[in-house]
Amino acid sequence: MIVGVLGAGQLARMIALAGIPLGLEFIFLDPSIDACANRLGEHLHGDYSDPELLAQLAERADVVTYEFENVPAEVAEFLASHTQVHPSAEALGVAQDRLIEKSFFHDLDIPTPPYAAVDSLNSLELAMTTIGYPAILKSRTQGYDGKGQSLLKSKEDLNHAWELLQGVPAVVEAFVSFKREVSIIAVRNVSGEIVFYPLSENLHRGGILRVSECSANDPMQKQAESYVSRLLEKLNYVGVLALELFEVDGQLLANEFAPRVHNSGHWTIEGAETSQFENHLRAILDLPLGATTPVGKAAMVNFIGGLPVTEELLNIPNAHLHLYDKAPRTGRKVAHATVRAESTEQLAELIKQLSALADEVDDS
Ligand code: AMP
Repeated sequence: MIVGVLGAGQLARMIALAGIPLGLEFIFLDPSIDACANRLGEHLHGDYSDPELLAQLAERADVVTYEFENVPAEVAEFLASHTQVHPSAEALGVAQDRLIEKSFFHDLDIPTPPYAAVDSLNSLELAMTTIGYPAILKSRTQGYDGKGQSLLKSKEDLNHAWELLQGVPAVVEAFVSFKREVSIIAVRNVSGEIVFYPLSENLHRGGILRVSECSANDPMQKQAESYVSRLLEKLNYVGVLALELFEVDGQLLANEFAPRVHNSGHWTIEGAETSQFENHLRAILDLPLGATTPVGKAAMVNFIGGLPVTEELLNIPNAHLHLYDKAPRTGRKVAHATVRAESTEQLAELIKQLSALADEVDDS
């Protein structure tokens, strides 16, 4: 079986690493000549919308998936008219636009922070009379890892924040003082079988994920499962879906969802019976889904901007290093480590050690 992947970054690389033992072969389409998944399959080098490369991919791949959500809708639709594509163009379309995504949540009774659509300085000023400060202004499309976002603390911030957006349509939403951020990784296969991973508890800094910890037996698990099930069913979704949530006053509010494998699920590589990457492949190939049971207490720490010294990291008990084969650059995710422990206290100590290594090399 040949799996085509749009994008050949670290997520594609980890999908391939999980698929090779299953006898799968991979073709990646990516504009970057040194994209880090390249060595794990064939690389079609060129633009995502290059008609010849897309035709090649569609002809040769038994199924096509992707590692990022900003695939142009017409590309996903073209591929879908020639081969199997999972998740669907519809799921991509919803996740690509924060306004459509939020109204989709609302239609499914999934609560979000209060928000309003904004397309001019006037409409921003008007929206702020109901949203209130503090708030966050986010571009509707193309935003990730906190990019295209401004915190609005008072009226004085509005002009500058609106200028930064350079006129692109946006949403403004209340800045919620959450108790914690969590995400749920769910998987649905072609036949409709669904599995959920235990919640990930996520720590962000500067809008970028730093640490994810598996939260087994979390009191909010059922609520998160209920929300994400509605998304999976409504979209007739196939593959891994990650739903990011804020916990506020004992309730979960949806922030956004990613129609793909997700950074907050990397702990599943060594920390769950079946990794999110393997389950994504099983789902899109309509194979039975693997157990999501955690193996011990598990967590993941990202390395951003710089690489750890391998020997130092591997000296930490039960730590596993995942290098992405990417050149270090400020703010760029270049590796992560997973770690397992027998107790919560031991896990906290190991996360501390790994985070110290990550902080040493992070120059952002
Ligand atoms: P996003 O790009 O929407 O995932 O935002 C990146 C990060 O910014 C989130 O993971 C939160 O840490 C923070 N953030 C985004 N929206 C809000 C909000 N409405 N209230 C509080 N924090 C937020």
